Amino acid sequence: MSQHNSGDIRRRCLCLRTLIVGMMATAALIANNVDADDPPKSRLNRVTFTDAKSVTRMIESRVLLEAQDGGLLLEGRDGRLWNVTPKQLQKREATEDPFQPLSAEQLGEQLAREVAEFGIKTPTQVVVTKHFVVCSTAGRVYAEWCGSLFERLHDAFHAYWKEAGLELHEPEFPLPAVVLKDRAEFAEFATKHDRPDAAQAPGYFSEPTNRIILFDLTASPNSTPAKTAGDIRRKLEASSFNVATMIHEATHQLAFNSGLHTRYADNPLWLTEGMAMFFEVPDLDSRSGWKTIGRVNAPRLKDFREISRMPRAFLPLAELIRSDAGFQKAEQSRAAYSESWALTFFLLKSHREQAVAYLKLIQRKPRLIADSPDDRLGEFQKAFGELETLDGDWKKWISRQGK
Ligand SMILES: [Zn+2]
Repeated sequence: MSQHNSGDIRRRCLCLRTLIVGMMATAALIANNVDADDPPKSRLNRVTFTDAKSVTRMIESRVLLEAQDGGLLLEGRDGRLWNVTPKQLQKREATEDPFQPLSAEQLGEQLAREVAEFGIKTPTQVVVTKHFVVCSTAGRVYAEWCGSLFERLHDAFHAYWKEAGLELHEPEFPLPAVVLKDRAEFAEFATKHDRPDAAQAPGYFSEPTNRIILFDLTASPNSTPAKTAGDIRRKLEASSFNVATMIHEATHQLAFNSGLHTRYADNPLWLTEGMAMFFEVPDLDSRSGWKTIGRVNAPRLKDFREISRMPRAFLPLAELIRSDAGFQKAEQSRAAYSESWALTFFLLKSHREQAVAYLKLIQRKPRLIADSPDDRLGEFQKAFGELETLDGDWKKWISRQGK
């Protein structure tokens, strides 16, 4: 398998959660978790504040949360979340106007403006599909190919959950994707958009901005640019990991925009990552439905087997459930990812009813409220039964897969 990323990076997904974990420390201050049906949530507010980089901004938004100390969690018309502390807040104007997401065209213009403001000179092209806005410096053919891949994933994702009996909704916002022409541009954009370590990833979903940030995976210094969708397909088929990255990040975005998870809620990382890996097996056939959902993810299974055989590498199941810490430690993250895939795969394939009930519980988690490790474990055991039995069943079941 051709790969231009190191083995370590390829297993990691950067979902930029550090910020969120820090914000959860302020959960005690949260007074008012605004309910989805509560009218104030749907009103347009104009909020002026100084952001973390000392830039003064006026954001047209709705207020998702209001803390006792006056701090706000805002959602902009582009779907971006802003956490505004009382110290940063300058002015808040509540209007009687309804809150409305930007149109796909407006969102596309905003993304193109930002790419230019970040110093990227390559002209952008915006491709709008039914649910996605792809702003790209990689040329129209590639942007269109991405848009159509994402749409097929959207349909397959919704069909899967409908069949499983889990109610989801269509995304409220047009879903933004920024696709840069090569790794260098990606690194430049990611560093300014998020932070320098984002530049190391092969692509990522940003929970605060609701965007997926990717680059043209067919671009390499020694090859000619893809001119047709057929060219792209041939190049990507030679490297299934690259397509898996795109699908992985787009799955995160769909999950957070369809009600499967809630942004800034305390979603267990084994579950959000496990879900993205469950869906990431590519199906490049554009004429029929997505046939690979629910199939064994061979590279992840291989990883899982290797880790199981290494002394002291395997994270105990209770540890994986109780805490996200394994994902953040360099020496444990490979185990955390492969075990999360294996656990999600096992639960969805062999305990689907319980898994759907558990997902319904996770769906209702409030924003910015952190659960204790014991709460997480307790909820998991309530859904799936006693841990020791499940652990044994899980390992036995996985050992039979892919044979
Ligand atoms: Zn991920």
